Formats: sequence, structure tokens, C-alpha cells
Amino acid sequence: MQELAGNLFIISAPSGAGKSSLIQALLKRHHDMQVSVSHTTRAPRPGELNGVHYHFISVDEFKALIANNEFFEWAEVFGNYYGTSKSTIRDSLNQGIDVFLDIDWQGARQIKKQEPSAKGIFILPPSLSELEQRLNNRGQDSSEVIAKRMAQAQSEMSHAGEYEYLIINDNFDTALAEFERIVLAQRNGFGSQACKHKALLTQLLAKTAN
Ligand code: GDP
Ligand code: ADP
Ligand code: 5GP
Repeated sequence: MQELAGNLFIISAPSGAGKSSLIQALLKRHHDMQVSVSHTTRAPRPGELNGVHYHFISVDEFKALIANNEFFEWAEVFGNYYGTSKSTIRDSLNQGIDVFLDIDWQGARQIKKQEPSAKGIFILPPSLSELEQRLNNRGQDSSEVIAKRMAQAQSEMSHAGEYEYLIINDNFDTALAEFERIVLAQRNGFGSQACKHKALLTQLLAKTAN
């Protein structure tokens, strides 16, 4: 992909570390950012809306989308399929909107291969016991599902070093401020600025002295 005005961010974390909460809180503050809505074959949790939290589809529908090459990336996580579709992301980036992908490390690797300019942000909980407590407090998964997610947590966290940025989500407001700083700083990356101020840069930087 050539330089785009918007930045693409990959946000990963063990389940329960606070990805969704941090992304939603940042979106409330900034209207020129959006989260990509993934497709999944898992069942909706109470309160989750089709098309808002995920596009909830069947395994057969998911396989058809894979066959039609509709996914930017997809992965099997906790026994369900999850995938990011190509449509919308590129349009948003073209319009200068920053896009967050809330995806696991397998998806992150696939995205990085296709979009080396995508920036990865990994979110860690302050401890394993706090992670388990958050999953319990969220009150949306059965104890069996929570046990599965806790068992996966350490293998997910072992990939944190593959990301450019790391946030420890202990105090929520501190973590949110760190998240915001990372995203806003990226807007001053040369590539983003060159897209947004093309005419000015052409005028000012065109003639190289020597
Ligand atoms: P959460 O971890 O509690 O937010 O649970 P979810 O069921 O929302 O997400 C399950 C896992 O799937 C997480 O690791 C997500 O990052 C990952 N995931 C969600 N959407 C996608 C996607 O489109 N592609 C990939 N590769 N992973 C995704
Ligand atoms: P994820 O999307 O990574 O699975 P969530 O955003 O759903 O995680 O957060 C899991 C639970 O932990 C939610 O109930 C959320 O309100 C809570 N939570 C998130 N961040 C914090 C924090 N810094 N301190 C305490 N609880 C938190
Ligand atoms: P949950 O079932 O709790 O919503 O999500 C479980 C995990 O799946 C999370 O760690 C989330 O990041 C990951 N996930 C959600 N959507 C996608 C996706 O589109 N692609 C990939 N690779 N992972 C996803």
C-alpha cells in the first residue's frame, strides 16, 4: 500500500487486558479514528450487536469469505474463526482516519507482512491474578471459557516483543493517556504528513540543494 493519510494500528493483548475498553475510550475522544469490525463465528455475548461489535456469521459463511479472498487476515482463536475484511479499512485510511485492528498475534503477523507501516501496540495486565479477576468481573464468559482464555494468556503475551509499543493497563486513565500519546505522535510521522500536506511539501521540499 502506498503512503496513506491515516495510520493503521494493531492492538493485541491477552483476553481481558482491556483492549476493547481502551479503544472505546479513545474513540469517544477522537472522531477521526475508528475500530475495524471483525467477522467472527463465536456466539454474541449478551449486549453485543451484529455489525457493531462483530459481524457474527456461521462457519460456512466464514469459509466462503476465505474462498472469495475477502479477508485481509484471519485466524482461529479459542476454537472460533476471526477475520478482518479488506473493505472499509483502505477507504478509511485514505480519508485520513486512523484505524485500529483489535486482533491476535497471528493476525498481527499477517497484517505486518502486507502493511509494514502498520504499528503494533501490545497491552499487558499488571498481573495474571488481575487478568483473571477482570475476566470474572466482566461477567460475560462462562468459567470454562475464562479458564480457556487464562490458559492462552501466557502464549499470547509471549508475542509482546513483536510489537512496537507496550502499554501496561494497571491504572486505566494512565494507560489511556499512553495509548493516546502513541496514536497522536504517529500522526506526525513523515509519511502521514507528506500525504496530508502534499502541495506544501512539493512546494517547499522539491528543490534539493546538493
Ligand atoms: P476479547 O479478547 O475478550 O476482546 O475477546 P474477543 O472474543 O473479542 O476476541 C478474541 C480474540 O480474537 C482476540 O485475541 C482478538 O484480538 C482476536 N480477534 C478479534 N478480531 C480479530 C480479527 O479480525 N482477526 C484476528 N486475526 N483476530 C481477531
Ligand atoms: P479485552 O477487550 O482485552 O478482552 P476488556 O476491555 O473487555 O478487555 O476489559 C476486561 C474487563 O476489565 C472489563 O470488565 C473492563 O471494564 C475491565 N478493565 C479494563 N481495564 C481496566 C483497568 N485498568 N482496571 C480495572 N478494570 C479494567
Ligand atoms: P473475544 O471472543 O473475546 O471477542 O475475542 C478473543 C480474541 O480474538 C481477542 O484476543 C481478539 O483480539 C481476537 N480477535 C478478534 N477479532 C479478530 C480478528 O479479526 N482477527 C484475529 N486474528 N483475531 C481477532
